[in-house]
Amino acid sequence: MKILLATEKPFAAQAVLEIKEIVADAGYDFVVLEKYTGKAQLLAAVKDVDGIIIRSDIIDEEVMAAAPQLKIVIRAGAGYDNVSLDAATQRGICVMNTPGQNANAVAELALGLMVFAIRNFYDGSSGTELLGKRLGIHAYGNVGRNVARIAKGFGMEVYAYDAFCPAEVIEKDGVKPLSSAEELYSACQYVSLHIPATAETKNSINLALLERLPSKAMLINTARKEVINEAELEKFLEIRPDFKYLTDITPGNDAVLKEKFPKRYFSTPKKMGAQTAEANINAGLAAARQMASFFQSGDERFRVNGKG
Ligand code: NAD
Repeated sequence: MKILLATEKPFAAQAVLEIKEIVADAGYDFVVLEKYTGKAQLLAAVKDVDGIIIRSDIIDEEVMAAAPQLKIVIRAGAGYDNVSLDAATQRGICVMNTPGQNANAVAELALGLMVFAIRNFYDGSSGTELLGKRLGIHAYGNVGRNVARIAKGFGMEVYAYDAFCPAEVIEKDGVKPLSSAEELYSACQYVSLHIPATAETKNSINLALLERLPSKAMLINTARKEVINEAELEKFLEIRPDFKYLTDITPGNDAVLKEKFPKRYFSTPKKMGAQTAEANINAGLAAARQMASFFQSGDERFRVNGKG
């Protein structure tokens, strides 16, 4: 059995060492492809592997076709929109993610971006504080829950809307559940975005929703760029000079936004929400353990695609 760790953006060295240990203990061969610069390298590396652990790497139909022995792909992380799920199902390949393993890292970044923005991007001028302000958490999953925990420490009044999470679960955390995104955006000066990119959510953060935000509002996006209607966000930045947008996922119109709204727009140079030593180790090790458990006992607990 051969397991490939394919990471165009490598894990921390310690994480790779520990992943290797788990895979070796399970009795499998372990190969690493890091910092590859073209798809051809990935296609060559997968030709005789049974399992692949990836990060944001694209595993599409072509990659699967080049890997005739492939049985499982594990995305060490939360979002799995980089894997073609239907193609995997058709080929009998199991796809998993490692939910929650990097959630604290992303949540800390979200709060960090908020502080950065209210202190005017650390330009030396006087800013404002988070204490007593209303924060709306858009989707109360693993990251959203961690954002709530940290925001309460800042003394923020925390609200959340999630299309699937029961209100009682939200309430139990001392967070006020709201029943729609519209209600959340109307109620909260600060909104932190944590919805996945799905057919339903793509482009869903549009002008009509943003226009509900109260004055001096801020939207923090550590989720996915696809959920934003970028043209309408740009328009909203134009018509609402009190609004700030900070994102961990570079939008298509990044250069234009940077030029037009230098003090109200910020994008991290690379997606860095999950880029901490701790998150690397948590997600990488979880992926390695899930891989071993899949081959040893058929454990498919974290499967995200259909069985066909
Ligand atoms: P999660 O699966 O734990 O939570 C997602 C939540 O979204 C769930 O509670 C679900 O019920 C809710 N949801 C789904 N569709 C919805 C809708 N239409 N409206 C409202 N709620 C909806 O995922 P997570 O680990 O919390 O990750 C959240 C987002 O952050 C994902 O988009 C993920 O890809 C992204 N992410 C980014 C980074 C980064 O590096 N910036 C790292 C990890 C995760």
